[in-house]
Amino acid sequence: GMMDLDLTGSVPRRNTRAVRVGDILIGGANPVVIQSMINEDTMDIDGSYRAIRKLHEEGCEIVRLTVPSLAHAHAVGFIKEKLRTEYEDVPLVADVHHNGMRIALEVAKHVDKVRINPGLYVYEKPDPNRVEYTEEDFKKLAEQMKEKLEPLIVSLRDQGKAMRIGVNHGSLAERMLFTYGDTPEGMVESALECIRICRELDFHNLIISMKASKVPVMLSAYRLLAQRLEAEGMNYPLHLGVTEAGDGEYGRIKSTLGIGTLLAEGIGDTIRVSLTEDPVKEIPVGYGILQGLGLRRTMVEYVACPSCGRTLFNLETVLHEVREATKHMPGLSIAVMGCIVNGPGEMADADYGYVGRGPGTIALYRGREEIRVVPEEDGVQELIRLLQGDGVWVDPP
Ligand code: SF4
Repeated sequence: GMMDLDLTGSVPRRNTRAVRVGDILIGGANPVVIQSMINEDTMDIDGSYRAIRKLHEEGCEIVRLTVPSLAHAHAVGFIKEKLRTEYEDVPLVADVHHNGMRIALEVAKHVDKVRINPGLYVYEKPDPNRVEYTEEDFKKLAEQMKEKLEPLIVSLRDQGKAMRIGVNHGSLAERMLFTYGDTPEGMVESALECIRICRELDFHNLIISMKASKVPVMLSAYRLLAQRLEAEGMNYPLHLGVTEAGDGEYGRIKSTLGIGTLLAEGIGDTIRVSLTEDPVKEIPVGYGILQGLGLRRTMVEYVACPSCGRTLFNLETVLHEVREATKHMPGLSIAVMGCIVNGPGEMADADYGYVGRGPGTIALYRGREEIRVVPEEDGVQELIRLLQGDGVWVDPP
């Protein structure tokens, strides 16, 4: 049949329930949440505190840390306390590994969300003679998993805290690998098995992720998960990310493709761009993705033409100057266009425009209206004056 086209000009949002993580809500009508992870050793309480604070000041709304031992779990208690008393109560997520429920239960007291990988909870020795996993086998193994996970689920439930079921391509349980292969389907089944266990225990503060380093695998897994959840009447929010995206330009492109494609389809309630770089650098990429899709407006939106033979000034330099002067006023949109021929028409409804007018002059626009023509060398200063006159201007911090 005909494809249903969304002509609203805005990105849809999958209808999800809101899950609380500290003072942040993930899902529902809430803005898509930005998160990241520190790479300090959690045992280094001061270093971890500083790294979390730095990320939070950069706009990271939820911070994750890794908790491989009971000593680390205790350290998280001190980190959280230091944040509370010396900074603020930043929502924290603990990555809990498969090696001990005591660690999970200890850290669950200190953080707002615990992340588990369901593939790692029941160890099954690969059996070369196995022909199939029967429904009975699946039931038995799920039962074992429930027994193992129950104390954590009950603890989080009773404290009103959240859990992320973080499935990773590449670390599925043997029964999933054997039955479905290392596929999006196997990933989704793995998540669903864990979700059912949580539901049996009346725990619904769930957030689900399906990470993979291959973008197409990740896309399929999330799409299938969203479909299956909907078919089964469940609306848990989803956490998006591309693992091992790498660094630099290509790392950013891969993350943007994976995360952005799904968000554009309405899938995703919180995102983590993961780069092999200082995690602080992940934050602007995340906000850029959300801004580009019109999901959040945390920056000034700049519209600029690519410049061409008609360009009347050095567009790159001017755009840079305009940005430096105005980037502290999020919500505003400003166009910088090379010429008056096509510029004003293509400013995409920007609030203000800076347009090449004639040799040595530029025109300033408010919306589609030309306000004044000034010498090029006064352009940026005059733009600031115009913003001041309109009561829009805010002094830079
Ligand atoms: Fe060229 Fe003018 Fe279009 Fe810029 S706005 S690309 S200068 S025609």
